[in-house]
Amino acid sequence: MIPFSPPRIDDKIINEVSDALRSGWITTGPKTKMFEKKIANYCNVSNVLAVNSWTSGAELLLYWFGVKEGDEVITPVYTYCATANIVIHRGARVIMVDVRSDFGLDLSLLEKHITPKTKAIIPVDVGGLPVHFDKLKSIVNKTSIKEKFNPQSENQKKLGRIMILSDAAHSFGAKYKGQNIGSEVDFTVFSFHAVKNLTTAEGGAICINLPEPFDNTEIYKQLNTLSLHGQNKDALAKTQKGSWEYDVIDAGFKCNMTDILASIGLVELERYEFETLPARKCIFEQYSSLLKEYDWAIIPHYKDENRESSYHLYLLKIKGISLEDRNHIIQEIFEQEVSVNVHYKPLPLLSYYKGLGYDINNYPEAKSMWECEISLPVYFSLTPDQVKEVVNVVVNAVEKIKKQ
Ligand SMILES: *Cc1c(COP(=O)(O)O)cnc(C)c1O
Repeated sequence: MIPFSPPRIDDKIINEVSDALRSGWITTGPKTKMFEKKIANYCNVSNVLAVNSWTSGAELLLYWFGVKEGDEVITPVYTYCATANIVIHRGARVIMVDVRSDFGLDLSLLEKHITPKTKAIIPVDVGGLPVHFDKLKSIVNKTSIKEKFNPQSENQKKLGRIMILSDAAHSFGAKYKGQNIGSEVDFTVFSFHAVKNLTTAEGGAICINLPEPFDNTEIYKQLNTLSLHGQNKDALAKTQKGSWEYDVIDAGFKCNMTDILASIGLVELERYEFETLPARKCIFEQYSSLLKEYDWAIIPHYKDENRESSYHLYLLKIKGISLEDRNHIIQEIFEQEVSVNVHYKPLPLLSYYKGLGYDINNYPEAKSMWECEISLPVYFSLTPDQVKEVVNVVVNAVEKIKKQ
């Protein structure tokens, strides 16, 4: 069976994890702090906070910004449930917006969804392709949009506009205008979940990039404290002689990263730019060159003038098929021992959101994309022969179903 996206667990990882275990320090400590510094360096930002998941890190940011009941947060309709759930956890309303054919938020629809209640926008880099950050920022900074903004919390007053929190769960190492992403918007949050390009088993990181008058080092300290119950000393600081006493300054979250997880991340990061990304890119290019022979294959868009994907998901679309056909094709592919996936079933098709009243018919682009999408396997050790095999299996399945 060709798997979809197994993690790379080799001796280097095992040795580094053993090292963390043998050090006697297993929760947040020196390895986590080192991991944060290296990510900051990679992403061209001054401060990065490592956390235990994208979800907890991003929710922490909504809390920090004071998002609460009565507020609205804009997300694309075509995403993983986490993007919407963090908004719901804060008691705010999710405003779902349709996407474009490259799977990114349709920025031409954005303005009409912005109201005086809008506090944040969470664009998603689906598959690893960054959204058009400049376009997004120019909308949020428009005078007419800023005048609508109705700040409630201290941080909202200080920012003076809608906050942009980038869901970069797929796009660690993606490029925007030639640079690794992380320094385009207010906050960029990565996921290091087991299926992501760079994994720590579970984990995430927040790139902090607020404009003046915010002091990003100060914000790092605040968020770090909030990631540990609002406790003003972490476990390591408390081990210093006579340093047992601490204060709690807020009812914070509990989402700090551990040194065991950071040790996996340190190995993954070291080989990311020169090993992981080029290998993934090669697989994408081989898929595209083989599939472009077929007129039913809509090749995913993963590079243009300003943007380059992190090559996370190969999002193949198949022209002229029904949802039923798509599902039969996937069944055929699995029967030939190849694992594929679908990204994503749009949120309004999932029971919980449907129950809240979201209607898929309001999102025609997302609906048509989901009906014809199949994500192909991409991972570090997928060989050129296996890529050929996947393509053969997909071609046979599509042609068989299309003939029926
Ligand atoms: C994986 C994923 C998340 C959640 O990441 P976790 O680290 O598992 O919390 C959020 N958004 C998108 C688009 C994802 O794919």
